[in-house]
Amino acid sequence: MSPNSAAMPARILVVEDEPSICENIVYALEADGFAVETAGTGFQALEALRAGAFQLVILDVGLPDMTGFEVCKTLRQSSQTPLIFLTARSSEVDRVVGLEIGGDDYVVKPFSPRELAARARAILRRARPDALEPEAAPAAARGAPPLVVDETRCQVTYYGVPLALTRYEFRLLRAFAAHPGRVFSREQLMERASEEPDASMERTVDTHIKTLRARLREARPGIDPIVTHRGMGYSLLETWPAS
Ligand code: CA
Repeated sequence: MSPNSAAMPARILVVEDEPSICENIVYALEADGFAVETAGTGFQALEALRAGAFQLVILDVGLPDMTGFEVCKTLRQSSQTPLIFLTARSSEVDRVVGLEIGGDDYVVKPFSPRELAARARAILRRARPDALEPEAAPAAARGAPPLVVDETRCQVTYYGVPLALTRYEFRLLRAFAAHPGRVFSREQLMERASEEPDASMERTVDTHIKTLRARLREARPGIDPIVTHRGMGYSLLETWPAS
């Protein structure tokens, strides 16, 4: 990738048939500097994906002509472009199916467009770490890390031990693992871990961190990989103790 690629805005395709929702998403993404195209049907989406390269697809599950899942399945036959599903509030099944058939994340309606934009940034950072965070060395270059997050299985392995985590704990750990050493505020953690972030719930982050630490300690006593930064938040260890 050329050194200039970091300056090029990522292209995102937004597939959503509800014009007002679509407009809000486009507004939030463009405010974040992304180049955005839209499609209102599954057919248009597949046409757009055939015609041009996108770094991310945001895909409504409920489209007029086919489901977002069908669009995803077709896309996955030829491309691994990261994809965020927009799902209806009620359907847990949709979320699970969405991740199983190749979605990278999902956002439940109604959602905050800013949160969606934050998820988009997070996914693009993971997908293009060289382009968006030139200072971050690829994990592979440092040898196998003690903490391995398997997005597709929603599973974390810690020193070879699969952890039994709640959805919230999984998402917290995933956020940490994506940026070792980065200090996250409670608000940022809540945005990443909760499906319905609510400022009054910030304290619950502390509770989840506590249970998460207990699970990590169970799997590997003697190491606390989550660092508390007083008055600021939490981070994941950047340099692991020799084991
Ligand atoms: Ca829809």
